[in-house]
Amino acid sequence: MMEQLWSPWRSAYIASDQSSEGCFLCKAAAPDAEQRLVLVVARFEFTIVLLNRYPYNAGHLLIAPKEHTGNLGVLPTAQAHELMDVTQVALRVLQAEMRPHGVNLGGNLGAAAGAGVPDHLHIHLVPRWNGDTNFMPVIGEVKVVSEQIDEIWDRFSKAFCDSTSR
Ligand SMILES: [Zn+2]
Repeated sequence: MMEQLWSPWRSAYIASDQSSEGCFLCKAAAPDAEQRLVLVVARFEFTIVLLNRYPYNAGHLLIAPKEHTGNLGVLPTAQAHELMDVTQVALRVLQAEMRPHGVNLGGNLGAAAGAGVPDHLHIHLVPRWNGDTNFMPVIGEVKVVSEQIDEIWDRFSKAFCDSTSR
């Protein structure tokens, strides 16, 4: 049960280099990063939102602090609060754009918990649809193609702009 419930988070990013130099989240958070290439759909003061390059399901989002830290427990309060604020915004965008029946929200703290990049905290949002469990492993591993990611990047980038500019 737990295995099935938490398998969405099992990361395809298995970092061999755990420093910030080898970290895909730090690369995505860099101010000069090409947003489409690093799949970032929204940037906030302390936080970024990006598409998972190896999604469990189309629309799978990652919300991460810009700071290279793996421990939510010691994340400065302002950053932790913004992380949750942004998670709310991301959830609204995901629900509006993908119309999922449900959403898995969670994360792995530490390699023993299944984190592929244990030193850089990130929250997963995975849209779910009734009955998707049986064919999801196929889609998660193989079927979410790059054109689909490109199209979702366009839609989500626009949706975040619309939802945060008021
Ligand atoms: Zn990092």
